[in-house]
Amino acid sequence: MFKDKTVLVLGGSRGIGAAIVRRFADDGANVTFTYAGSKDAAESLAAQTGSKAVRTDSADRDAVIATVRESGPLDVLVVNSGFAIFGDPLDQDPDEIDRLFQVNVHAPYHASVEAARQMPEGGRIIVIGSVNGDRMPVPGMASYALSKSALQGLARGLARDFGPRGITINIVQPGPIDTDANPAEGPMRDLMHSFMAIKRHGKPEEVAGMVAWLAGPEAGFVTGAMHTIDGAFGA
Ligand code: NDP
Repeated sequence: MFKDKTVLVLGGSRGIGAAIVRRFADDGANVTFTYAGSKDAAESLAAQTGSKAVRTDSADRDAVIATVRESGPLDVLVVNSGFAIFGDPLDQDPDEIDRLFQVNVHAPYHASVEAARQMPEGGRIIVIGSVNGDRMPVPGMASYALSKSALQGLARGLARDFGPRGITINIVQPGPIDTDANPAEGPMRDLMHSFMAIKRHGKPEEVAGMVAWLAGPEAGFVTGAMHTIDGAFGA
């Protein structure tokens, strides 16, 4: 479906991002992805999928902008890099909180704008948010919830800016997905499943399927919207 399309995935070495890289590569795209720390995983994924791995820390705004520019013109940009900090906000290091905002909010903004400079008509921007942008049922994760709800404003606003050029921007909002960041057998498992109608973690491939649909030809009228895939965690 994506033969000869140029795709960049920010944060593609592991978890949901790696499933997205695999999905686009399987569907014939020319895929570049970034990573920060997981060099071995990135090189192995690149070799398996015929994609290209580039080390770019999403906390480094100028590096993100340069990588997007050098990888373009992009048919599809996926911003997946992101992380959570848990704990009492009164005890948290403000520098760490600011780094979270750089990765989870600033990088999606600057990457999306930079991608749109060269993006052709029909281009697609997809950012991985979280159901926690809609619902935050536990304490200790306000910075993460803030960062993921900020992406909703990003999509609503940039949809207006880029829509006239036929470029869409959408947010995919997963619930619990089985990755290193949120393992299916982790200590939060039973609490998270208690909020859900489908009481299991989702699979990274399920999120990649939604991303592929949003990036494909059937989704040209879908923009400025949030797409939740969460087993009804947020319902
Ligand atoms: P993982 O921690 O399993 O993987 C994160 C990926 O992002 C890795 O490839 C990592 O690369 C990359 N990454 C992280 N920080 C940076 C950075 N500063 N610069 C470049 N790359 C970076 O996370 P998940 O796969 O679970 O999560 C992916 C996205 O999905 C995140 O945005 C997360 O908030 C969101 N999400 C996840 C949910 C879940 O339950 N798993 C639920 C809802 C949303 P490297 O290893 O090289 O650092």
